[in-house]
Amino acid sequence: MSRDRIIHVALPGGHVYDIRIGSGALSALSSTARDLKDCQRALVISDENVGPAYGKLVKKRLEEAGFEVYDLLIAPGETSKSVELANELWEAIARYGFTRDDFIVACGGGVVGDLAGFVASTYMRGIDFIQVPTTLLAMVDSSIGGKTGVNLQAGKNLVGTFHQPIFVCSDIRCLKTLLEEDWANGFAEIAKSSFVAPRRSFYEWLRDNAAGLMAHDVELLEEAVYMTAEFKASVVSKDSTESAGVRECLNYGHTLAHAIENAAGYGTIAHGRAVAEGMRFAARLSVEMLGCDMSVVKATDGLLDSLGLPALPWVAPPERLFKLMKGDKKARGGQVRFVLLEDIAKWKLVTVPDDVIMEHLQAWCTLKERLIEQNGGKMWGQA
Ligand code: NAD
Repeated sequence: MSRDRIIHVALPGGHVYDIRIGSGALSALSSTARDLKDCQRALVISDENVGPAYGKLVKKRLEEAGFEVYDLLIAPGETSKSVELANELWEAIARYGFTRDDFIVACGGGVVGDLAGFVASTYMRGIDFIQVPTTLLAMVDSSIGGKTGVNLQAGKNLVGTFHQPIFVCSDIRCLKTLLEEDWANGFAEIAKSSFVAPRRSFYEWLRDNAAGLMAHDVELLEEAVYMTAEFKASVVSKDSTESAGVRECLNYGHTLAHAIENAAGYGTIAHGRAVAEGMRFAARLSVEMLGCDMSVVKATDGLLDSLGLPALPWVAPPERLFKLMKGDKKARGGQVRFVLLEDIAKWKLVTVPDDVIMEHLQAWCTLKERLIEQNGGKMWGQA
């Protein structure tokens, strides 16, 4: 028997669903899907990297449960999160004769999950969907919380919905084929959660087990996914539509990260690496703004180093980063707000005066210039 673990998510509107995490989670998909759905058709949406391996397996599991299963593959990558592709998927589902009782399964990383979730939430005003996340980031972050969406030319995730899955099935075995940057993206979100989750023991566990996680030890990965998913589920259960201010903590490290990703050009620096930079920056800002102890800065640097997220030899003019922060959709009334730490496991949303931000950005850029010098004058992302 599998030793998978289950997180029960109960949302304010009465919607409840389970997140199943473990090395046998996919084996349970047939019975769970049948328990949840008394319908005829299912559609598995996957991408070209994931479909041939895991998408095929998901299809088989659903067929075993007696569903008539269709499958569609999208091109991998962020550009697939588009209205044009959503339209192609809506048309296909309509051709297959899907009714409101049928359902969609998103099998892949956050791109597949966000797009398939968006399509499910809008087709016939909303049909059910199951998430089968296959990246570490999708298991700990994007599959939980119900945010779906597509990108516009004007920006990422500008069109979307809140649509909760009816089941999330995270099979740790899928992670064995991940590429290096996708591990980094996942580890950054796990580290972020460990700094803002209410129990300090989360951070301590991560610090003590970082080497094993970097070696991809399956039991440790299962534990890390479980702790992070449980934390995210607990946050979104209190604030399922991002209106109560509870979700703010999930943006720890993201204020500078968004500016870095934008200044570097999207795709140049992986999101997780930018978030790691943002957390190093926010920890230092926390010392000045909240009197946080310097040991938190050391803990931040140490944990990120040990999770394969070293400080990056990359810089942009401080004025440019500052301007981008001011324009961030999370800024209010021209004021930049940061999630900062009073201590590990104690966060606060703080409006930081412009001169303090600039001062810290200048110090950060000086450090970066030294790193670039040590790197033979080459910036991160340069050949
Ligand atoms: P992704 O979906 O692009 O996947 C990264 C790459 O890994 C892709 O090339 C994919 O084909 C490949 N891949 C997926 N699973 C694999 C596996 N098991 N083995 C080998 N390769 C595999 O990226 P991501 O990091 O998973 O997700 C990023 C997306 O998630 C962004 O669009 C972001 O906006 C979104 N996101 C959404 C939320 C949310 O709350 N909805 C939260 C965070 C991020």
